[in-house]
Amino acid sequence: MKLFKCTHCGEPIYFENNRCPQCEYPLGFLAGQLELLPLVANDAGTFQIYGQDETRYRYCANQQYGVCNWLVEDKSGHSRYCEACQLNRTIPNLSKPAYLQRWKVIETAKHRLIYALRRMKLPLVSKSVDPDNGLSFDFLADGMQRPVRTGHLRGLITINIVEADDIEREMTRQKMDEPYRTVLGHFRHEIGHYYWDRLIRNTDWIDAYRERFGDERQSYKEALKRHYREGPPAGWNLSYISAYATAHPWEDWAETWAHYLHILDTLETAHAFGLSVKIQSVVDSLSGVGDEKTDPYDPEDFKALMDLWGPLSFAMNNLNRSMGHADLYPFVIPPGVMEKLSFIHQVCYQTRRNGAD
Ligand SMILES: [Zn+2]
Ligand SMILES: [Zn+2]
Repeated sequence: MKLFKCTHCGEPIYFENNRCPQCEYPLGFLAGQLELLPLVANDAGTFQIYGQDETRYRYCANQQYGVCNWLVEDKSGHSRYCEACQLNRTIPNLSKPAYLQRWKVIETAKHRLIYALRRMKLPLVSKSVDPDNGLSFDFLADGMQRPVRTGHLRGLITINIVEADDIEREMTRQKMDEPYRTVLGHFRHEIGHYYWDRLIRNTDWIDAYRERFGDERQSYKEALKRHYREGPPAGWNLSYISAYATAHPWEDWAETWAHYLHILDTLETAHAFGLSVKIQSVVDSLSGVGDEKTDPYDPEDFKALMDLWGPLSFAMNNLNRSMGHADLYPFVIPPGVMEKLSFIHQVCYQTRRNGAD
């Protein structure tokens, strides 16, 4: 993610801040500009952006719960919800304080995801606008009868809010023998299924996809049953990013896609901070690509990104270990996965270019 700075006083600010810690101006995120901006209050709860034109904005209606700091233009007929919160179809029952707390964790991750999708210039529309191709979210708690399954179905992403509870999530992580489990990781995985539908299904990419990930027309139900019965095949870590990726070509895509988003977002953050880890020679080799030479959204060549990611993730792992934390990126990417990541990069790069044309 990029680095945000209060344009009133110059203080660096977090994406989630709703007030500048230095000058105490209220802050609001403007999705159209991908900027977090200081606000000047007008009458009747409206704001204008400090140093910008007279356009009036309101906070998203979810600001009252402390789960959103995005802005909506104050125009009649405009939704009360920002473009990230318009995607919510179901939110948890807020009469339970624990559910409100979980919802906050969920929304923090979701807003980061929506930032990245905008940054990637991927098609993004709510199901309420486009029922066939749109996206929506259900954030549900386990019911009396049956547990809620986190997953994706034709543009509807369901997240079990128990995943926002640190203890519960860590217990599941250990039970499933996973090296990494986060709420943001769930979002990145499930949105991968959504974009498989949008970018791969019934498109020219499908054959190249099947060459790398396998034929998704095999029974999904049977494949998952087999996976939970037998576990991953021996030697799986030479060609898959995770054990779960071996279950079915759709899961392989979603797992690899999630990693692509981990890498892109973290590289953008490093780039925004001007971090470099003895990678100067690589930076030089990228010259000519653009002004922001190491902006991960620029290079067409995926290898250039991985040359940055290797040293950076190694350094970050070591920083975490210095603090007694687990590795930031507890994975090793084998050549077989590199090829899949590179394919995802090509699909996203072309989608972005086609959108710009
Ligand atoms: Zn400020
Ligand atoms: Zn919102």
